[in-house]
Amino acid sequence: MNGWAHKIRDLGGLTFVDLRDRSGIVQMVIDPAKLDPKEIRSECCLAVRGKVALRSEETRNAKMSTGDIEIVVDAFDILGPAKPLPFPVSDEDQMRSVNEELRVKYRYLDLRRPSMHRKLALRSAAVTKMRRYLDERGFYEIETPIFTKSTPEGARDYLVPYRLEPGKFYALPQSPQQYKQILMVAGMERYYQIARCFRDEAQRADRQPEFTQLDMEMSFVTQEDVLQLIEGLGVTVTNELIAEFGMDLEPIEPFFRLTYDESMARYGCDKPDLRFGLEIFEITDHVRESGFGVFKNAVEAGSRIRGLRYPGGSILSRKDVSGLEDFCKEYGAKGMASFYVAKSADDGEGVISLPNGMFVRGGCSKFLSESELLSILSEAKSEPGDLLCFIADEYAAGNNVLYRLRNEIGSRCGLRDPRKLKFGFVLDFPLVEWNPEGGRWDSVHHPFTAPKAEDLQYLETDPGKVRADCYDVVCNGAEWASGSIRINRPDVQARIFHLLGIDEATQQARFGHILEAFQYGAPPHGGIAPGIDRYIMFLLGEDNIREVMAFPKVGSGYDPFMDAPSPIDPMQWAELGLRLS
Ligand code: ASP
Repeated sequence: MNGWAHKIRDLGGLTFVDLRDRSGIVQMVIDPAKLDPKEIRSECCLAVRGKVALRSEETRNAKMSTGDIEIVVDAFDILGPAKPLPFPVSDEDQMRSVNEELRVKYRYLDLRRPSMHRKLALRSAAVTKMRRYLDERGFYEIETPIFTKSTPEGARDYLVPYRLEPGKFYALPQSPQQYKQILMVAGMERYYQIARCFRDEAQRADRQPEFTQLDMEMSFVTQEDVLQLIEGLGVTVTNELIAEFGMDLEPIEPFFRLTYDESMARYGCDKPDLRFGLEIFEITDHVRESGFGVFKNAVEAGSRIRGLRYPGGSILSRKDVSGLEDFCKEYGAKGMASFYVAKSADDGEGVISLPNGMFVRGGCSKFLSESELLSILSEAKSEPGDLLCFIADEYAAGNNVLYRLRNEIGSRCGLRDPRKLKFGFVLDFPLVEWNPEGGRWDSVHHPFTAPKAEDLQYLETDPGKVRADCYDVVCNGAEWASGSIRINRPDVQARIFHLLGIDEATQQARFGHILEAFQYGAPPHGGIAPGIDRYIMFLLGEDNIREVMAFPKVGSGYDPFMDAPSPIDPMQWAELGLRLS
């Protein structure tokens, strides 16, 4: 057997070595009277010859799949000796506290751990299944260039200087968006690619400078066709993986569907976690004339008063509630009003009994009239034991706080069940959004997204009203995929560029190639691109994208193993015609 020395135990009379390869671990027994085991160090690479023997009854280990046997070693070879380790590879508990940069610097050791191995095995199986699903449906897998021209997805480009003409640069693709559309003009009809995308943007736990998408595009399709394809793929691949890997996850159900407007109104965001209910409720109309100045004044100033139930929150102390208020302030709220829904007339101080048999106390309850309280309880679909939380703000700013508060309450109440994956579509996004700093309209998705035919009439007069044939797939509160039906008519594309403030000359310089291509019989087409790293994160319940990548970057884009990025040779500067200013 070949493998690595996982754990070594010297029990005086005998030495036990757990030998590990990618399929598992088996115990070796070495008798020091016959063989000298001293050279066997943790994580050295070994070849072993011996006999399989049944362990004695009392030494069998039911927790190990090979726990009934051991290998009595006749001979071994050290194929690759190992230096003392930077961290205890075989001890999963201790590994949890090892500095991540160190783990990535010694990734080849970190990845030897069975837990890390499993992640990459799962990733490999996921990609194989996605390929199979698409191959069976007539898709071609086609590679597109990495050295290309800027294709906007809302991030900065990574640029590569072109040696032969100093001052010219390739851009690395933020996505293969333009090429896949060109492949449709080229008559490929169904394309996919396991595509590496490069985006220079602020790093977060779920972002890396380079990441992988399952990029796809189809011709002669409607939005519904794309939705059905991706839902079919998502459900099939996920449920197969759950079964094959014995994952502790419930099989996934058909995807839910929400429009963007519904999602914002009910959950405050375009990527709601629907593992739990807790919808935002609105009480603006009920408190317009309220004696509670905070609400009345806010409504007069144009704010809306919306809120959330915190089930079981009536047991929270005042300090807990002010902690929750601080949480809201962190995300821009001016404050958070609240009151408790008591369980009975003697559940705490100052309980107010209401004619519907319910009781409230504390917070702003004493400033609200009986009829206001009754309307609020009914809007909130409140239950005894709740804490009701209110945010007064204009719609978008309020949403920004309420969606985070909703997730926070969900987490605190244990409603974000790690055994559930709740996939769904968010549909009918607006085409553009106003960028107040830039004083211009920006694409919500990208400039090739088709406006809804029925909204095209508002493109020049009321752009904010135009919805797009654009869709996202979300899962457990995060975005998985984004896609759209594309513009295939040059006249519509020109109107969109005009709206985005991209003048004729810039259009030609940046997108002349694609605009020209669309003049040669471009078919209607659309596509989508789910993130592969994100998908594995969902399956494994990981919060950190680095955990599902073989060689991630740390910090703001550093590779501690390669020590990249790194300075270049002075000769290379000159060759590229570059100079530090
Ligand atoms: N190119 C888009 C993205 O990277 C996906 C698409 O529209 O198909 O999000």
